[in-house]
Amino acid sequence: MDVSGDVTRLVRELRTERRYAEIDINGRSLRSILDRQPIFTFEGNGSWEDRRVVPQTAAAAKLLTGPRGAEWERVVRGVLGVSQAREGVDRLGGIAFSTGRDGFAVGQAVAVMSHWMPEPEEGPRRVGEYFPTGPDLRDYLQRTARRPAAASNGGMIAVGPTVTRAVSRAINQRDADFRDGTPDSYRDWGSLAAKVLGHEVEHSVTAPTPATYNTRLGWIEEASAQVMTEWPGRHRRSGEKLGLPTHGRHPERFRTYREHTDAMRRILRLGGVDTRRIDNFDRADALLQGGSLQRTPGRLASAIVEHHGLDRDTAYEPIRTAIRDAAWSAEGALDPSLLSSNVRDLERMVGELAGSSPA
Ligand SMILES: [Zn+2]
Repeated sequence: MDVSGDVTRLVRELRTERRYAEIDINGRSLRSILDRQPIFTFEGNGSWEDRRVVPQTAAAAKLLTGPRGAEWERVVRGVLGVSQAREGVDRLGGIAFSTGRDGFAVGQAVAVMSHWMPEPEEGPRRVGEYFPTGPDLRDYLQRTARRPAAASNGGMIAVGPTVTRAVSRAINQRDADFRDGTPDSYRDWGSLAAKVLGHEVEHSVTAPTPATYNTRLGWIEEASAQVMTEWPGRHRRSGEKLGLPTHGRHPERFRTYREHTDAMRRILRLGGVDTRRIDNFDRADALLQGGSLQRTPGRLASAIVEHHGLDRDTAYEPIRTAIRDAAWSAEGALDPSLLSSNVRDLERMVGELAGSSPA
């Protein structure tokens, strides 16, 4: 999917239409905030090395033509590479880095408009279809700037200021003179970037809609993204693709979504996947992301039924439902703190079903 043209038009409109360009955000105009955000899109098809990186703002153009231009381009294009060429990544339209919370919100607005806006019958997408008035856009930006995320993927990856700084510092490591090898602080920045960018690009593999995250399946989307990001061997390769120094292994202290990943690894093991083995990556990928998110609980349930030799007629449905609802509270809300005990119940149920079926 080529979104470059859409993004170019939307950015131009935000900069030139006064009702948007002159919105005041904490004493700055939207136009001046937008100009400072390095926003890139991808053009072209084929393998990730062949995609073209297109700067969409003044800040993005400046980075690409600056002394670290090649490194920035490698990080941007490398995000496509960390996915290991899996299907769906060509859906990723670009990356918006940010210099602060307000810039992060602007990047998310561009992402949202370029992807989730319905394609108009006639003519290109316009900002006004999504944000009819300046105050509509301002409200969105204020709400979004308060959200605590480090990054998000709304068809384009929007990267928050902390991770943007980490990328920048890791890239600029080459300015320094390291007599004893790359210091840990640089590896910290590179590892943080590899982890967050790796997680976000996983969302392009499954391509959930924004609403998905608040459904019963929301936990599975985050668990899948993070389990695959932390898969053995993955962190080192991600760093290589991005051209950033890393610790080589996903640092324990950078773990996020712990409840999600612990629960999903246990479910994968119930299905016969060895989560410690590099070469089980493809099996995990097929179960977690080898089809629509709606069917992930069913794919996992099938693997468990097969691995334990269970009677499909009686075992499949209760296992599928238990996986789907593992983080869903009685009140009908996502509550990841339920995962640990619910997955333990699932393990017990599988053990009992296996014990009662004729061997
Ligand atoms: Zn996520």
